[in-house]
Amino acid sequence: MLENLIIFMQQTPAAFFILVFVVGLLVGSFLNVVIHRLPIIMQREFLVNAKEILEQELTEDEQKQAEQKFNLVVPRSRCPKCGHQITALENIPVVSYLFLGGKCSECKAKISVRYPIIEFVTAVLSMLVAVYFGVTWATLAGLFLTWCLIALTMIDFDTCLLPDSITQPLIWAGVLLSMYGVFDVDLKASIFGAVFGYLSLWVVYHGFKILTGKEGMGYGDFKLLAALGAWMGWKMLPVIILFSSFVGAIVGITMVIALGRDKNIPIPFGPYLAAAGFIAFLWGDKILTAYLGAGAFAS
Ligand SMILES: [Zn+2]
Repeated sequence: MLENLIIFMQQTPAAFFILVFVVGLLVGSFLNVVIHRLPIIMQREFLVNAKEILEQELTEDEQKQAEQKFNLVVPRSRCPKCGHQITALENIPVVSYLFLGGKCSECKAKISVRYPIIEFVTAVLSMLVAVYFGVTWATLAGLFLTWCLIALTMIDFDTCLLPDSITQPLIWAGVLLSMYGVFDVDLKASIFGAVFGYLSLWVVYHGFKILTGKEGMGYGDFKLLAALGAWMGWKMLPVIILFSSFVGAIVGITMVIALGRDKNIPIPFGPYLAAAGFIAFLWGDKILTAYLGAGAFAS
């Protein structure tokens, strides 16, 4: 059964791409929930832990909140304005948004256009991965990486946090995949990638702190680059760092000039790392070969 399905997909690439696109839409819908709820779950845990360490009692409201069941599945999504529970029919990625005209079916409050955009972008990026790797295990692994990067990008953008619960499993997944040769990265390159990825930003962070007395980025950034290094091997680290700092610097300078944004307000670096990581994941080899010549980096 599964074997037949795989053979069918290999013979009909169009069906495979459409399937991945639809799965991408559905996953994008789930990512919207993760992006919204994971920071709330984390902040609630921080609060409980902090109060425990300080030996303070939770207030009555905080106690209630701590006992309430709140995770990525429970409770069902509701309209933040009127509390209307989103029905299955209203939860079809992109389609429902268009049918509802971007408004809650009950109170007509505006629904952020961000939700369908994230669903659509997830579907498009998923399809890019499928086109690149075809009907292989590499596509399956690559989709997992892509989905994690999308969630990390948006969570960092919203909250300046890169949750350990996503970055750390990504590091281990990258190392494990290298053991099975899913990508063209061996175990040694993967482990060096994780170590150097973490260390390189750690050095930048402490150097920056010594020079300016300010903190330029967070520990989450180190772990994210460690994960990208584990997936793609140490050789890809310079490409990722170069890309992310280049784009990050341009966006940062533009924001300071155009929006008069205080240059001391931290701008999350995670989205640039994630975007550069995705580009390097699909096209990094070509970039390395084009700029450095095939021989220079042969292992
Ligand atoms: Zn409503």
